[in-house]
Amino acid sequence: MKDELHDMTYSIARDTQEVLDRLGVDPALYTGGTLKSFSPVTGEQTAALPEHDAAAVAAAVGRAAEAFRAWREVPAPRRGELVRLLGEELRAAKTDLGRLVSIEAGKSPSEGLGEVQEMIDICDFAVGLSRQLYGLTIATERPGHRMMETWHPLGVVGVISAFNFPVAVWSWNTALALVCGDPVVWKPSEKTPLTALASQAILNRALARFGDAPEGLSQVLIGGREVGEALVDDPRVALVSATGSTRMGRQVGPKVAARFGRSILELGGNNAGIVTPSADLDMALRAIAFGAMGTAGQRCTTMRRLFVHDSVYDQIVPRLIKAYASVSIGNPLTTQALVGPLVDRAAFDAMQAALEAAKAAGGTVHGGERVTDVAPDAAFYARPALVEMPDQTGPVLEETFAPILYVMRYSDFAQVIEQHNAVGAGLSSSIFTLDLREAEAFLSASGSDCGIANVNIGTSGAEIGGAFGGEKETGGGRESGSDAWKGYMRRATNTINYSRALPLAQGVVFDI
Ligand code: NAD
Repeated sequence: MKDELHDMTYSIARDTQEVLDRLGVDPALYTGGTLKSFSPVTGEQTAALPEHDAAAVAAAVGRAAEAFRAWREVPAPRRGELVRLLGEELRAAKTDLGRLVSIEAGKSPSEGLGEVQEMIDICDFAVGLSRQLYGLTIATERPGHRMMETWHPLGVVGVISAFNFPVAVWSWNTALALVCGDPVVWKPSEKTPLTALASQAILNRALARFGDAPEGLSQVLIGGREVGEALVDDPRVALVSATGSTRMGRQVGPKVAARFGRSILELGGNNAGIVTPSADLDMALRAIAFGAMGTAGQRCTTMRRLFVHDSVYDQIVPRLIKAYASVSIGNPLTTQALVGPLVDRAAFDAMQAALEAAKAAGGTVHGGERVTDVAPDAAFYARPALVEMPDQTGPVLEETFAPILYVMRYSDFAQVIEQHNAVGAGLSSSIFTLDLREAEAFLSASGSDCGIANVNIGTSGAEIGGAFGGEKETGGGRESGSDAWKGYMRRATNTINYSRALPLAQGVVFDI
């Protein structure tokens, strides 16, 4: 599996720069700065970006606040035209942006392109939405009155995003925010700043074609946690949409709440699947393999726990172990391997620590070792690990952001639902069953407690049409489809009296 990375003429930095050139990113934005950017594909440095400081954050928020005053007056369908143009520009840039996602986040080509497709899909959704920002008309108890609700633009939206969906999360927020009348200030992950610069360059082209959008409608802030903190603390940021670890959410959530700001928190997951006696095992096997090993286990919706009924355990688990032993692992830029790199050494170390803890708790580990023959030493590729656990204890209760699947037996349906829900996170879940009663029970009020509950598909790979997000320590936020747009607008209830009298609600009398 030696490849062009071992060819002395290949340079990932040059490859990156060529992609950035084609995407129209100004080299001044990624050269000579203090934030070093690395590709997990080879572990090598690709760029050095100038960073923003607290004053620059304040200035950016100021520009966005000014832009809000103008943008909120633009009719929503006209705002939708900007997002339509963004969708066109994304279509034109899909190949290059997808490759940049692979370079920066280590995703396979298909997943890199899939992430850009998700951006295009949410643009299409938002364009339609720009003509559907409906409020209700509500029956009033007072004669000669009309009551209705109106949705207004909210204000500046601060977006903080994680490394593993470096561009899709921005687009979920930005496409909705723009049609809802809100400017966006984006603090991408410090591990994936280049895809952010590229996304902004693509939006800049849409803005140029649009013509009369205000300055500061969409801005990118480069830097680490401190830059995110400055954004979170600025009272002019009406909504903070923050995607990342539960640890980050514990810091961001209370700060925004303390100033009565609004937040959408999209945090960690500890997602489980249940394989029941009636499951289509061939289908379950494929769904579990993608859900647990895809994106090298670095999706918020990655399947991390699997409960298998005693009666089918010996039919499916040995096959899964075989799939883990044979799955292709390799450089996502030059091979069609299904599993790419972990993002960095810290991710690999966390994976190894979790596997040690699992062994100490009585687990039997299959796989999990470092794979060294696909890339230089600075990159971290690992064979996904399947761990047979006697119980749901120790590391099984936490999200380790790596490809580890803990497998446990169960015998009683009611008990497995209890166990399924007995972790902090509440993002995604799935059941494999052909039994209607089990399927419906899993989706019912006393079934899965997650924001996403699936039947006969895996935990990962959501479509943009549904609202995305999870409960409990996943933060409760909802993004993307359905009525998630309401989070980006403020609702006013309006009552109009067109009579000549002034009847008070609840029959209250106050005659002067
Ligand atoms: P992370 O929490 O380390 O960082 C996420 C972002 O938060 C980065 O931009 C970081 O700079 C910023 N940040 C960190 N601390 C901050 C603070 N105190 N104030 C303001 N900003 C701060 O996460 P990561 O390692 O980049 O991503 C992996 C995590 O993200 C996993 O836990 C994964 O489950 C989660 N995730 C969740 C979703 C979701 O939709 N629920 C989607 C993708 C990733």
